[in-house]
Amino acid sequence: MSFDVDAVRAEFPALALTVGEGSRVRPLIYLDSAATSQKPQRVLDAYIDFYRHSNANVHRGAHLLATRATDAYEGAREIVRRMVGARYTSEIVFTRGTTESINLVANTLGGQVRAGDNIVITALEHHSNLVPWQMLCKRMGASLRVAPVEDDGTLSVARFAELVDGRTRICAFSHVSNALGTVLPVAELVAVAREHGALTVVDGAQAMSHFAPNVQALGVDFYAFSGHKVFAPTGIGVLYGRRELLDAMPPWHGGGEMVDTVTFEETTWAPPPMRFEAGTPNFAGAFALGVALAWLEALDRPAVEAHERALVEAITERVAPIPGLRIIGTAPGKVGVLTFDIAGIHAHDIGTLLDQQGIAIRTGTHCTQPLLARFGLKATARASLALYNTLDDIERFGDALERASRMLR
Ligand code: PLP
Repeated sequence: MSFDVDAVRAEFPALALTVGEGSRVRPLIYLDSAATSQKPQRVLDAYIDFYRHSNANVHRGAHLLATRATDAYEGAREIVRRMVGARYTSEIVFTRGTTESINLVANTLGGQVRAGDNIVITALEHHSNLVPWQMLCKRMGASLRVAPVEDDGTLSVARFAELVDGRTRICAFSHVSNALGTVLPVAELVAVAREHGALTVVDGAQAMSHFAPNVQALGVDFYAFSGHKVFAPTGIGVLYGRRELLDAMPPWHGGGEMVDTVTFEETTWAPPPMRFEAGTPNFAGAFALGVALAWLEALDRPAVEAHERALVEAITERVAPIPGLRIIGTAPGKVGVLTFDIAGIHAHDIGTLLDQQGIAIRTGTHCTQPLLARFGLKATARASLALYNTLDDIERFGDALERASRMLR
């Protein structure tokens, strides 16, 4: 097998969009996949087909459509289990996304955190993997410790280890940084946490589209990700949790589906994963997520990774000669995230000028305000790549960025 980027691009209708009119028509170049990925036609079709042919509430009916819907929903759970290398489907909880997955853990494990305990995160966390822990610490009288990030965007395991001690209950960190592209040494960080009896929560939002994690090999306790960043719709996400832990955890939301027996006096809980899926779940979204992951799984992943590595190298080289440009995050082995600052030019102005040339990048804080502050910045521009980007996209981006920076100077 190998990777044919043109064949893959042909599956994504949004990548065929153009901007401008008449002689000024040009292709839209999408370099904002870290915010959300585009969706292949087969995922869009699956979503519509589900509503056409299989729509009924899951787990509740004995009729044909209810059976189809339930099979589709549970089938997707099995695909997710396979993709993340979990042992049991009961370890896969469907949520709205990474943010909800992390809040679920923070709220259900919260009872184990006592005054005087601490939670360790890293300086490169997205607000989603920072604010829920900060809220928990404030509620329980615990302290939040933050492992520093180095100037090149790497995370030192030794400096992380200095913060973990016998009062550390949870270590929460990203698999891949959305602002720097750094791939964190998850297995080593897990080993540090384990040595001190702390649980690990890994934010995999940016990892899933680039490589398949293996939660057992990594040894993580919890792993969260969002469907919309991995070629699936919005509003569906996943929390993987180790079975023994989920079994022992209380529910977070109460309602239908998450119960075993209910009286006015008392309620007993359903086993995981249902215990954590109160109310009607996003079953159409889950089904479409399964379709997206199965598509990804069928690609030649090593070839995809090689393609993505070539893109990272190309974009890094392409922007290097631009006067005043500083790349934030140059960790070895980083994924396709190019966050940059151009001296004397506001990031929003760069974004606007690139947009006028049909190039979509993101500007702002990327939901990592403390991280940008660490680098002395309030806003940056970020071009982020996915497997469907090409060397031609990078060339056009480089040309447009050169033009924009000349105009703004
Ligand atoms: N964590 C990281 C690293 C992210 O990049 C994002 C989204 O940008 C999130 C968490 C939050 O994901 P969601 O908004 O889908 O819940």
